[in-house]
Amino acid sequence: MPRRALITGITGQDGSYLAEHLLDLGYQVYGLVRREPESMQWLRRIAHRIEFTYGDLRDSVSLETAFRKAWPDEVYNLAAQVFIPTSWEFPADTFDVNAGGLSRLLQIAAREKPDTRVYQASSSEMYGNSGGPCNETTPFCPASPYGASKLAAHHLCRIYRGRGLYAVGGILFNHESPRRGPEMVTRKITRAAAAWAKGDRTKLRLGNLQARRDWGFAGDYVRAIHLMMQQEKPADYVIGTGDSHSVADFVEQVLQVLRQMTGDSDFSGPIERFVEVDARLVRANEIYDLRADARLAREEIGWKPTVDFKGLVEMMVKADISALREAASAA
Ligand code: NDP
Ligand code: GDP
Repeated sequence: MPRRALITGITGQDGSYLAEHLLDLGYQVYGLVRREPESMQWLRRIAHRIEFTYGDLRDSVSLETAFRKAWPDEVYNLAAQVFIPTSWEFPADTFDVNAGGLSRLLQIAAREKPDTRVYQASSSEMYGNSGGPCNETTPFCPASPYGASKLAAHHLCRIYRGRGLYAVGGILFNHESPRRGPEMVTRKITRAAAAWAKGDRTKLRLGNLQARRDWGFAGDYVRAIHLMMQQEKPADYVIGTGDSHSVADFVEQVLQVLRQMTGDSDFSGPIERFVEVDARLVRANEIYDLRADARLAREEIGWKPTVDFKGLVEMMVKADISALREAASAA
């Protein structure tokens, strides 16, 4: 019998990579979706192999229906309100989805099928400005409603684990890919880069260029998510590359890729030729530097990343250039 997995957030970046990974491993995959088909752009290749079920993390009845249909061995709770500025505009809604959603799923799993394993998409944003590399023992100090909602959910996992449920929180640092949401800074930059490659010289407006993140490749991180769920004893793990780069570094790396791809020396010089700071995008409660210490994951679940910073930037720039070309030829 194939193992059965229910993925919430299957239409998103991580959900789509995880679905591909689990199908490759022979799982029967069920996905919770709010709508179709526009939201399924990353699933087109595999959609026919997935059982979809409608639902929303805010709605217990839909979650119960999805759970009973999937009758899962493993639930991967990846759905969330993910954008930090939005969490300031809609803090209560962010909590309802990000913490309330998990609480509903945990209650259903504990009541209906307590041998179900539950994965929660926890986040490095729970650390706030702790400073220095963060591991599983670093104190949490979230700086946004998003971070606080993720911390509440993370603690819920621990509480249910204490009551015997297999529940783990994967503390993932920022991970990106060509499927990253366009509102996030990396994808915002690589989409602009595709326009620059076509000759457009519109400057991209960004916020804090000095903020640093530990950016890895989402395809690597979903392997970690699955590995965590296969351990004999449930435990939380930090996942990240261990290196951090600034937003300015990201732009510089993008320009280097464009220079290599086009041979055009125009893609050199100060990044200010391509980007400008917009004070409205500078965050009041900024987290200045996030960097993972993922030694435990390396030692206990045997995980390490395969794509470095340069490789990630190149992959994203090339994908956005191709996407722009395809859109132009389809028009
Ligand atoms: P995406 O923004 O790509 O995907 C979010 C998913 O959540 C979408 O499928 C979206 O569906 C779904 N969703 C949002 N609200 C609801 C809701 N109310 N009910 C049901 N589904 C909903 O996020 P990522 O793939 O990047 O992230 C996956 C998870 O990992 C998230 O929980 C995120 O907070 C967490 N995380 C991500 C990190 C990263 O760097 N990517 C770092 C650390 C944690 P729809 O298509 O309908 O909008
Ligand atoms: P986050 O780490 O989940 O907040 O991921 P983001 O990609 O949204 O932001 C990463 C960092 O880039 C944060 O420190 C932001 O303040 C910074 N940043 C600078 N300019 C921008 C911008 O225009 N958009 C976004 N999303 N982030 C920006």
